Formats: sequence, C-alpha cells, structure tokens
Amino acid sequence: MASEPDLIPGIYIYCDRWCERCAFTSRCLQFRLEAEEREGVEALQNFDALNLQFWEEMGEALVQAMRLIREIAVREGLESADLQKETVHSEPPETFQHDAREHPCASAALLYAGMVNEWFAIADELPDTEESLLIHPPPSLEEPIQVIRHYQYFIYPKLVRAVEGRLSGEASSESEMEADGCGTAKVALIAIDRSLAAWSLIYGEYPSEEDSTLSILVHLDRLRRSVEVLFPAARAFIRPGFDA
Ligand code: SF4
Repeated sequence: MASEPDLIPGIYIYCDRWCERCAFTSRCLQFRLEAEEREGVEALQNFDALNLQFWEEMGEALVQAMRLIREIAVREGLESADLQKETVHSEPPETFQHDAREHPCASAALLYAGMVNEWFAIADELPDTEESLLIHPPPSLEEPIQVIRHYQYFIYPKLVRAVEGRLSGEASSESEMEADGCGTAKVALIAIDRSLAAWSLIYGEYPSEEDSTLSILVHLDRLRRSVEVLFPAARAFIRPGFDA
C-alpha cells in the first residue's frame, strides 16, 4: 500500500491529526490503515475538497483576527512595531535548563487551555444562555467552537515536543533535531493561527464576552510571536503534502 503513487510519504508526521477536517485523507497511508480498522471512515475521503475550502475560509478569518489585535494595540497606545517586539515567552530552548514542560511557551499554551475552559464556563452562566454552548452551539458558532476545542489541548504537547527535541538530542544529527523541532513548531503555529481565527469569529458573534475574548486573542497572538522567535525557521518548514 505504501508504494501507491497517490499516497504522500510522511504526510501524517507533521499533521494535526484531525482527519475529519483534513483535505488529504485520500493520500494518507495512516488514514488508510486506520480506515481498514474502522468501518465507514473511507467516506471521509469525499470531504477532502470541502475541507480544503473550510481551511481557506479560516485563513480569511485569521486576517480578521490580526486586524482585531492591531486595533486593540492602537487602543492601548502600542505601535505595531512594539507589538511585534512583545514576545514574553521566548527563552531559547538551548539555554533553558529545566523540563521542556516548564518552558514559558509550554506554560503559556497550558494557560490558554485553561482560559478556554473559563470562557465557556462563564458564557454558560450568562442570563440569556439557555443551553451549554459546547453541547448546543448556535449554527454560526458550531465550526469555530469545533476548531477551538480540537486545538485547545493540542498546542501544549506540540510545543513541549518542539522544545524537547532541541534539549534531548534524541535525533541522530543536529540538523535532524532542528528540522523536527521546526516541523513540530510549525504544526503548533498552525494550531495557534486557526484558534486565533476561530476566536475572532466568536468575538463577532458573542459581544457580551468581548473582554475575555480579547484577552484570549492577545494571549494567543503573544504565544504565536514567541514561537516564531524561538523557531525562526518554523514557518518556512515544508510539511510533506501540506506545503509541497
Ligand atoms: S494527514 Fe490528514 S488524514 Fe492523515 S493522519 Fe493527518 S489529519 Fe489524518
């Protein structure tokens, strides 16, 4: 099966493991193997094109998120250049002497996961909320909430692995270590980007939670920039299939 020409070698190494939303299920060996074990999963391959369109639309929402964050910065008297410099979590892994799980970026990702839970708990307590947003979201929030929930606990382990890769020397060469760290950091960055995009959609639909939504957007944006400083080659990393 692995030698089939349509399959993209190694596409599953730097993916987000969200097969239901993946545009490459028909070209992924990992998916095929799992499909053999689970009845009906083959049907997902019919959604590859739709999923591609879904992520393109989320890309537009990311532009909106960036615009929102710039507006917040202006409101708080920050110049755009100041905002770019503001990367509080960027201690280089090479000089970091502790467990990768304690790296400031990892801690920020964990904090984000908690902020998400808090946001939904508060939203469910609002007087005009009849049913839990997570269980019965309004149609306009269904997809952004799915995105937020999928990546809520995904970013932390990816960042731990990216930092760990540099610390442990597990890989056989320095360049291999560097590449794996960048590839993993890129997956984390994409998860952050998509979460930012989803939160910007929530912001528009849920004005009563404006302040806490903005806090989340600013926190995620700061984490995004910190990861870019830590892994400057991550954005340019070519993930098999997705970027090439
Ligand atoms: S590449 Fe896509 S189909 Fe394959 S495991 Fe990753 S998310 Fe699933």
